[in-house]
Amino acid sequence: MRVEGLTLVYHIWKYPPFAEARRGWDVWSNAIKPPRCAVQSKFSQPNFRQPNELRMASEAVLHFRRELTMKKRTFLKTASVLMAAPFISRMLSWAAPEKLRNWAGNLEYGTERMYSAESLEQVRRFVKEQSHLKVLGTKHCFNSIADSSDQFISLQPMDKEIALDSAARTVTVEAGIRYGQLCPHLDEQGFALHNLASLPHISIAGACSTGTHGSGVGNGNLASAVSELEFVLASGEVVRLSRERDGETFRGAVVGLGTLGVITKVTLDIQPRYTMRQYVYENLPFDQMKDHFEAIVSSAYSVSLFTDWQKHRVNEVWLKSRVEEGKSGEAPEEFFGAKRATKNLHPIAELSAENCTEQMGVPGPWYERLPHFRMGFTPSAGKELQTEYFVPRQHAVDAILAVERLRDQISPHLMITEIRTIAADNLWMSPCYHRDNVAIHFTWKPEWPEVRALLPMIEKELGPYQPRPHWGKLFTMGAAPLRASYERLPEFVELSRRYDPKGKFRNGFLNQYIFGS
Ligand SMILES: Cc1cc2nc3c(=O)[nH]c(=O)nc-3n(C[C@H](O)[C@H](O)[C@H](O)COP(=O)(O)OP(=O)(O)OC[C@H]3O[C@@H](n4cnc5c(N)ncnc54)[C@H](O)[C@@H]3O)c2cc1C
Repeated sequence: MRVEGLTLVYHIWKYPPFAEARRGWDVWSNAIKPPRCAVQSKFSQPNFRQPNELRMASEAVLHFRRELTMKKRTFLKTASVLMAAPFISRMLSWAAPEKLRNWAGNLEYGTERMYSAESLEQVRRFVKEQSHLKVLGTKHCFNSIADSSDQFISLQPMDKEIALDSAARTVTVEAGIRYGQLCPHLDEQGFALHNLASLPHISIAGACSTGTHGSGVGNGNLASAVSELEFVLASGEVVRLSRERDGETFRGAVVGLGTLGVITKVTLDIQPRYTMRQYVYENLPFDQMKDHFEAIVSSAYSVSLFTDWQKHRVNEVWLKSRVEEGKSGEAPEEFFGAKRATKNLHPIAELSAENCTEQMGVPGPWYERLPHFRMGFTPSAGKELQTEYFVPRQHAVDAILAVERLRDQISPHLMITEIRTIAADNLWMSPCYHRDNVAIHFTWKPEWPEVRALLPMIEKELGPYQPRPHWGKLFTMGAAPLRASYERLPEFVELSRRYDPKGKFRNGFLNQYIFGS
């Protein structure tokens, strides 16, 4: 039966009217060979590291297969006549296209239609043609803020540094570039950024659009370094805004949540390059944290407290300090009752510290100490969910102790919590707008039903402290309290309507939480 079936397929294949289908097949089957080879050669390398490189290799394959989706579609369309035969249709069913997902894999996007732009002109032309679309950065958001059911545009090929102005201390980059691509290049030229997030893998435009942050009482979020923006509006028109010239409009646009248009260029403040050291301490008692919170979070340039909420203690304290000439890099063995670690650690104790930036006081460039995770390695855990709430820093201890009350419900579903501080800024939609914040973050196991049930409890405990959720992470807070916590939201909505009158860049998430419709 099987042999007869295949023989029949062969004859249908040879039949001239199906030449178009055959051509489609050739294009497709030839095209999927390269990534297979790439994976094989990756595996055959002696220093192949699992699961990081396996993940990267498989991501490369998935990306390649997605790029091919359109070719596959052409092929399947022209071959659709073949599908009439049930056995053939079964044979082709393995060819179902991969679904496009976010980095963590918890969100399947509403469409796989992806246009990859290589120039400002291409962005303008494409945006003009579409009725609805969203920009996808590096897909590291956990919620549907970036989602579209119509069309995506990616600026990943637009990843060049355009100009470094050493007198003005600025660097201008194309919007598709990731921090991990820009930073080493910037360092080589003698410059640095003021801060970085826990990972360098994310796009600069995507990170600034959601108010992504690192840590440090004196450090604003990453968007606070933006001094100019270029973006393409729904009409295809190009707008350039600068901190100096455009005042409030600029401050409204920087944390733009992807609503205003497609960012094509970003200019960032830079400063002379610096060297850093990172020390990790273990087991800081909560009572110490309670009594000395300000001293602890101000004790280094960037401080992160990691806790699993068990045993009334902070499991790990990460202190990142700038190396200052003439000052010893030695760190005391004890820090508020915590003990200095004797080896490199991962924030999630069970995971390999190989993925993490160098610790133990070893000096290194700023961009290899500010993030916790190394470029080219899996950041965090990989298969996970994330949530984060910002509360004013003056309420930090009360807010942390309020969450601690839920430890028995939280811990079974938690990988780790991270507590960081971020300085106030003046960007309308930034969670740090006009308030110094503490951010309480949760890296969850991929158990959404349980996590979804927990989030309202955490939000209720944090309720008295005016919590604002991270724009790119998971939360259950209603639209009304969220909207009410942003005093410049009405002006932001007005700005969005001016730049995008027909809502070309809106989606379900934005309609719900920003536009209230
Ligand atoms: C492992 C991990 C660690 C993380 N660590 C941190 C952390 O330390 N601190 C923190 O604050 N967050 C952190 N995040 C969250 C993450 O940094 C943010 O969600 C960030 O927005 C991701 O950027 P992206 O380019 O991947 O965004 P995407 O999900 O691709 O897009 C985010 C938003 O930006 C918009 N956008 C992207 N590019 C453009 C453009 N060119 N023009 C207009 N709009 C655009 C999208 O439309 C969308 O609205 C982490 C996430 C992960 C997965």
